[in-house]
Amino acid sequence: MFPRQEIYLLQRKRNNLVWKLVNSLPEDMIPASLMYIYKTCSTPNCKCKKGEKHGPYPAVQFKSGNKYKIKMIKRNEADEVETKVQAYREYQEGLAEINKLNAQINKLLQKLRDKNLEEYP
Ligand SMILES: [Zn+2]
Repeated sequence: MFPRQEIYLLQRKRNNLVWKLVNSLPEDMIPASLMYIYKTCSTPNCKCKKGEKHGPYPAVQFKSGNKYKIKMIKRNEADEVETKVQAYREYQEGLAEINKLNAQINKLLQKLRDKNLEEYP
């Protein structure tokens, strides 16, 4: 395939993806990842002391400054939070895909440019 043709197709793919993100932008997204935590309690002789920990308790892990933090989620909010975390992840994946396409387009544009370079005598 000629670079021009390839660029055209990549550009079309990229633009479709951009519009897909624009048009399906979720109302709420939570920039975090979902995780499940198991805990031990303070009750003496509890089964958790023998390795059978309590849980799973849903939690979100997110970046705050340079550190990662973990926040427990209320059980009745778990589904809602999961949906919003998932929405954020999908959006980020879309952005990453757009970046990948941009990089490919850029490389092809450079290839086109380099074909037309000449040295000044
Ligand atoms: Zn326990």
